[in-house]
Amino acid sequence: MAEIIHTISQVKSEALEIFRKEFGKDSDICVFAPGRVNLIGEHTDYNEGFVLPMALPMVTMIVGKLNGKSTCTIVSTSKSLTTTSKIEFEVSDRSKVVPGEPKWANYVKGCIAFFPADVPGFDAVIVSTVPMGSGLSSSAALEVATYTFIEALTGVECKDLRDKALICQKAEHQFANVPCGIMDQFISVIGQQGHALLLDCRDLSVTQIPMDGIDNYAFLITNSNAPHKLSSSAFRERRDACFEAAKKLGKKSLREVTLDDLESLKKEGATETMLKRVSHVINENSRTLAATAAFKAGDYVKVGELMNESHDSLRDNYEVSSHELDTLVNTARKVAGVLGSRLTGAGFAVTAINTEMF
Ligand code: ADP
Ligand code: MG
Repeated sequence: MAEIIHTISQVKSEALEIFRKEFGKDSDICVFAPGRVNLIGEHTDYNEGFVLPMALPMVTMIVGKLNGKSTCTIVSTSKSLTTTSKIEFEVSDRSKVVPGEPKWANYVKGCIAFFPADVPGFDAVIVSTVPMGSGLSSSAALEVATYTFIEALTGVECKDLRDKALICQKAEHQFANVPCGIMDQFISVIGQQGHALLLDCRDLSVTQIPMDGIDNYAFLITNSNAPHKLSSSAFRERRDACFEAAKKLGKKSLREVTLDDLESLKKEGATETMLKRVSHVINENSRTLAATAAFKAGDYVKVGELMNESHDSLRDNYEVSSHELDTLVNTARKVAGVLGSRLTGAGFAVTAINTEMF
């Protein structure tokens, strides 16, 4: 906990200093939103299943101030940007806030455009410790930080946090043109320290899951550094197989399908590949619920086993792993104290470690 506060206070000092240099005045608003890692529940979201993400201590922070004008000026200090890092646009008439270049600004513009009240002119600086474009959800952190910043600027606060997450998702869909699910925005808005978040993607209900005894354990997130984003056609092939399987069984989604249905699915002419995809989704939903119970009970050995099973199924049944990710996971599993390891996001592995053993 102390470390997290220290990190955030460092980010804050940096952001305040840059704002002062950039705008020649002090800012009076400071907000931040976290990135996330999904602990278990992979490829379940679009099948109306369960996901279990956790917010990270890496955050996107925005500091700023009203400027008394009809425009906003925003500077991002991210070193990963390949285009201009400073943008200025009119905010007084929000129907004129539309997507354009640079692309990164579209995440911000979308939140401004869909904010449920007028937005006055402001100056702002964005500083982030969430790695960009790496599967730890810097995009949702940027949207949620932007939305929270405008709430502070206007005093208009969203009453239902789920609505806030949905507006941020809409910004990503319609302004950044990314058809993302809802997990990233939900965990960035609702995530609490010391808790994972169980999200039911069928009815968007959420439950904070206390991670009992978490202080004796660590989650290590490692980057394979190999570009590993499931291509859109490979993703579509898997998603369509799931949708088609549900349709063959006369169900709305795979959430309503059980392992007992696999026989009927075979009779309906499902291919071996389709059966593998479906069994992954059904078992992954069960694993996610089992992991939820294990977290509550502080049974991290069980959490580790479920993480291992999740990875093995993603590798063998959903076929979305890679040589690099398997190498990271297998290497981690050989280390004493490691309870489990799996792939998560694009090019990452997350490993549960019992820190008491070191
Ligand atoms: P991820 O969410 O996994 O990090 P995405 O591709 O969904 O990856 O989102 C990354 C994009 O979000 C970046 O390419 C950039 O456009 C935008 N973005 C995220 N963080 C920042 C930031 N701090 N400053 C500017 N743009 C950012
Ligand atoms: Mg993203």
